[in-house]
Amino acid sequence: MSGNRSVTYVGPYNLQVEQLDYPKLEHRGRKLEHGVILKVVSTNICGSDQHIYRGRFTVPQGTVLGHEITGEVIEAGRDVEMLQVGDLVSVPFNVACGRCRNCKEGHTDVCETVNPDASVGAYGFDLGGWAGGQAEYVLVPYADWNLLKFPDTAQAMEKIHDLTLISDILPTGYHGCVSAGVSPGTTVYIAGAGPVGRCAAASARLLGAACIIIGDQNPERLQVLSAAGYETIDLRNDAPLRDQIEHIVGTPEVDCGVDAVGFEAHGYGDTATAEQPAAVLNALFDVVRARGKIGVPGIYEPTDPGGVDADAKQGRLHLDWGKAWLKSIQVMTGMAPVANYNRQLTQAILWDRMPYLRQTLNIDVITLDEAPDGYAEFDKGSPKKFVIDPHGLLTA
Ligand code: NAD
Ligand code: ZN
Ligand code: ZN
Repeated sequence: MSGNRSVTYVGPYNLQVEQLDYPKLEHRGRKLEHGVILKVVSTNICGSDQHIYRGRFTVPQGTVLGHEITGEVIEAGRDVEMLQVGDLVSVPFNVACGRCRNCKEGHTDVCETVNPDASVGAYGFDLGGWAGGQAEYVLVPYADWNLLKFPDTAQAMEKIHDLTLISDILPTGYHGCVSAGVSPGTTVYIAGAGPVGRCAAASARLLGAACIIIGDQNPERLQVLSAAGYETIDLRNDAPLRDQIEHIVGTPEVDCGVDAVGFEAHGYGDTATAEQPAAVLNALFDVVRARGKIGVPGIYEPTDPGGVDADAKQGRLHLDWGKAWLKSIQVMTGMAPVANYNRQLTQAILWDRMPYLRQTLNIDVITLDEAPDGYAEFDKGSPKKFVIDPHGLLTA
C-alpha cells in the first residue's frame, strides 16, 4: 500500500480529498504495537463533523475528518492478541487506553491518557491528534480494548447499513435515552430529528417507551419520523412546547428528555431560524416532570468561535438553572461511552430487534470523492445520513 486518500479540513465550508501517506503503527513519534491498521469499510458523516465543517469546533488545517468507522483489520501490531488480519470490526469513536482509572470504570468517553490537553480522545477532531477515518485506511490504537469484532463477517456485511451506526450515533442515541431514564411505559421528548435524534427515537422504542415525541424545526426530517410511527412536533409552530406536548400526551410534561441538538440550537416559533444555544436545555427543564432525567448527547463546547455573543463564544449558557434545580431534575452530559452499548446493540440489529433503522436514518451511500458534497447537503438539513464507502464495498 502506498497512499491513503482522505477527506481533510482546509477551512470552514472547505474540505478536500487528498492523497496522504499510508498510516503507520505510530502516533506522535511513538511506536504503537497495540494498534492495528484498518481498511475502512464504511465511515459516516456526523452532526459532530458538521460543527467542524462550519468552523464551530476548531481543528488544525489538514486534519483528516471522521470518527464513525467500520473496517477490516489488515495489519496488527506485535502486542495485539485478540484480533486477526481479516476481522471485520466496529470502532467506537472514543479513543481510549483501557488502562486509566476512567477506562477501568467503563467511562471510555473521558479516557485520561490519549489526549494530553483534556480527558477525552476521538478520531478526526483536535482531541489527541488521532487521524480520522474518512479515508481508505486508519490507525486504531489499543486495538484489543477499543475494537468490537463482528461475530460473522458475511452476516455483518448483509446488515452493514445498520451496523455502520454502531461506531457512534446508535449507542449515542441509546445512551441519551438510558441516561434520561427511558424504560417500559415512559413518555419521552427528544429534541432534534437529526441522525442522533432518530437513533434516540429507535432506542426509546427498543427500551419500551410508551410515547416517543421528537421536536425539530425541519419538516423533512420530522416527516421521516412520522412515517416510521413516531409522534412529532414542528417547532416553527407558535404554540408553546408544553401545549403541544399536552395535545399528544394529555399532560404538559414528559417523564424523560433527550437533547439531540447541542450548542447550535435554534429557537421556537418566531425565533425558529435564530440561534439560541440554551434553547433546548431550557425547554427540557420546562417540559420534563419534577424528578425526571435529561440525557444530553448534543455537544456543548468550552470555546465556540461562531458563538452568538461573548458568553456563547466561551461556552457560557443562559440557563433556567433555578427552575431545573427546584424540580430536582437530573442531567447527564458528555460524549457517549460507545463501548458500554455497542455489543448489545449489534446483537439487537443482528436479531432484527431494530427493524426499519436504515429507513429511519435514510442511509445514503456515497464515495470518498462525494464526501465534500455530502457535507454541504447535510449542512442544509438533509434528512439523509451519509455513509462513505471508500473502497466500493457497500455498493458491490
Ligand atoms: P444534526 O445537526 O444533523 O441535527 C440536529 C437537529 O437539531 C437539526 O435537525 C436541527 O434542525 C435541530 N434543532 C435545532 N434547534 C432545535 C431545538 N431548539 N429543538 C429541537 N431541535 C432543534 O446533528 P446530529 O448528527 O443529529 O447530532 C446531534 C448532536 O449530537 C450534535 O451536537 C452532535 O455533535 C452530537 N453528538 C454527540 C455525540 C456524543 O457522544 N455525545 C455523538 C454524536 C453526535
Ligand atoms: Zn459522530
Ligand atoms: Zn483510558
